[in-house]
Amino acid sequence: MGSFGGGDQGKPSHHLSDWGSPHEGPAVTPKIGGQLSSRSAAAFPICDRGGERFVGGQSQFDLAVVGAGPGGYVAAIRAAQLGLRVAVIESERPGGVCLNWGCIPTKSLLTGAELVESLRERGAAFGINTGGITLDYGRAIDHSRRVADRLCQGVQSLLKKNRIEMVRGRARLSGRTSLEVSGPDARSVEAAHILLATGSREWVPPDVAVDGKRVLTSREALESRTVPDRLLIIGAGAVGIEFAYVYATYGARVTVLEMADQVLPGADAEVSKALEKEFRRKGIEVLLGCRFEKIDNGRDAVRVEYSRADRSEEIAVDQVLFAVGRRPATDALGLEAAGVALDERGFVSVDGRHCTSVSTIAAVGDLAGAPLLAHKASEEGVAAVEYMAGLDRPPLDPLRIPACIYAQPQVAWIGLTEAQARAQHGDAVRIGKFPFSAVGKAVAADHTAGFVKLVVSAEFGEILGAHIVGAGATELIAEVSLAMQLEATTAEVAHTVHAHPTLSEAIWEAALSAEGRSLNR
Ligand SMILES: Cc1cc2nc3c(=O)[nH]c(=O)nc-3n(C[C@H](O)[C@H](O)[C@H](O)COP(=O)(O)OP(=O)(O)OC[C@H]3O[C@@H](n4cnc5c(N)ncnc54)[C@H](O)[C@@H]3O)c2cc1C
Repeated sequence: MGSFGGGDQGKPSHHLSDWGSPHEGPAVTPKIGGQLSSRSAAAFPICDRGGERFVGGQSQFDLAVVGAGPGGYVAAIRAAQLGLRVAVIESERPGGVCLNWGCIPTKSLLTGAELVESLRERGAAFGINTGGITLDYGRAIDHSRRVADRLCQGVQSLLKKNRIEMVRGRARLSGRTSLEVSGPDARSVEAAHILLATGSREWVPPDVAVDGKRVLTSREALESRTVPDRLLIIGAGAVGIEFAYVYATYGARVTVLEMADQVLPGADAEVSKALEKEFRRKGIEVLLGCRFEKIDNGRDAVRVEYSRADRSEEIAVDQVLFAVGRRPATDALGLEAAGVALDERGFVSVDGRHCTSVSTIAAVGDLAGAPLLAHKASEEGVAAVEYMAGLDRPPLDPLRIPACIYAQPQVAWIGLTEAQARAQHGDAVRIGKFPFSAVGKAVAADHTAGFVKLVVSAEFGEILGAHIVGAGATELIAEVSLAMQLEATTAEVAHTVHAHPTLSEAIWEAALSAEGRSLNR
């Protein structure tokens, strides 16, 4: 429930005027390490599936990318580096949900919330009198929109710099190698290969009417300049948890309702418990094992009925934010006519090389299924294009994709949870754990909540998973990602000198703990 991971509310396009003028670039020679020496499309295979090979040939483009989110725009740049003639078709703003209505604006708002909480909770200890602080959430929203605009322009410039032709409008497949674009740059696009990266949309249960005022999804919340007095967030996944923290810090009385028996379903149980405890301490009410049943948007309040075990209960609030998941943006894409198969949940089915059931069409990012994360979308985009270009590269390992939640305390994880590791490896699992309360830098910064937990193979000492809750978790996880990529053991992490005083010492100490030789505990 509530993962970063859509429902098409039929929203209008936004800020089409932000696009630069369509740009037809001349042929470029690839800059990367000589993998391809010529941009001649006919010289290399693009997609190779089931023995079928395709080349750019006489098509207008070697590759047409639909969607300029982190999956599509990154794939387009990589394809241009490889010498392909590339077009990107986008119906709204470059950057997709991530830059415009997801990762980036939420992180801007979370930074504001973190600042407020730091001053309130820690200010006095550092001699800062915070009695006179006033909060203007509208200005925080304005700032988040400016940040999104700036990064959106950055993506536009990158596409231009890489001589990628930008086509403004909504694309629909009209064949295996062709698209019809409607909108400002209405035209037909022919390409040897098509990469679909149309992402996902907010999903709400049937019969829920989102009005943008009292019933919202993350999309409306990111433009809403006011903080309600009582807010109910339905879904305690990443999106729900981040908004709960922001709104609670800016003064709302927040209740989070979750169907599963833990916040952040899918996270290591111990980490979820620690986050839940901290949220309760902050005054956020957490209702677990509670299923949303129905909503009544009445005159004086919004009433939500939910069931817990066999009992039906009701809560009345000023605003309800649905963060119950996302659905793939497949509407009016012409998938069925083109023969592109979907999985049982409606996401586009792809093989290990990101090819769909139609060998000239690949799909990446949210459209191709979980995890619905920007970095997964980008890496899939790069991989899909590299496979098309015939490069030899390792496939993307789902267990090496980190997940981060940016509320305070932050949460980050990668790989197997302890429960998953025990289910797979039985007793051959070791746990290394270290609390931030024993890390000098965390104590100095007065950020002592949380811990680092490493799930380790008892046989080889290889790290199977890492779970961090606490300040800095979303940055710290990168060290473990690299360690896992290099198949490092906890003995090797323990031999790595970590600077003092840093929060990264918690990872070092967790590795020592897994080796049975903690130093500072
Ligand atoms: C509130 C929120 C916070 C999030 N925070 C994070 C986070 O912190 N970290 C993280 O990793 N992920 C986060 N995510 C998830 C992340 O935003 C997505 O995983 C990511 O944007 C997916 O990238 P994508 O390229 O697949 O699709 P999108 O970013 O959705 O981009 C798809 C693009 O395709 C365009 N498009 C769609 N259909 C057509 C068409 N027919 N023709 C032309 N263009 C079309 C759309 O306009 C859009 O620009 C968050 C999501 C939300 C909602």
